Amino acid sequence: MQKFRDKGLKLTPQRLAIMEYLDGNRNHPSADDIYSKIRKIYPMMSFATVYNTLETLKKRGDVVEITIDPERRHYDTDTSHHHHLICKKCKKIKDIHRDFSINIPEDQKGAFEVLGNHVEFYGVCPTCNTKGE
Ligand SMILES: [Zn+2]
Ligand SMILES: [Zn+2]
Repeated sequence: MQKFRDKGLKLTPQRLAIMEYLDGNRNHPSADDIYSKIRKIYPMMSFATVYNTLETLKKRGDVVEITIDPERRHYDTDTSHHHHLICKKCKKIKDIHRDFSINIPEDQKGAFEVLGNHVEFYGVCPTCNTKGE
């Protein structure tokens, strides 16, 4: 929470509610998730406010947008470099904090300067696996 305050962002009650929801949230919520939660506290909150706040936070580098779900954008409050495990069934996203040395063959990389990577592992999480049996 402190990181939001320190940078002098104008804190309206709505923005504050969104930030409080995001603070320490490791579930990679989508804008829809955030909207439906916040609307319970602020019934007048519009989706545009949620979306605009997320855009502001993204520009400031407080959240990272992850585009691993083609249907909706998710937001990650962990802005450090990490990878993701994604459950195909429940769409749960788990963080992987580990470095992978992935080398692109020289003939394909050419003069391309690689600055980073993001690895997505798809599969079925333990919860979904148990349900299916
Ligand atoms: Zn699952
Ligand atoms: Zn993450």
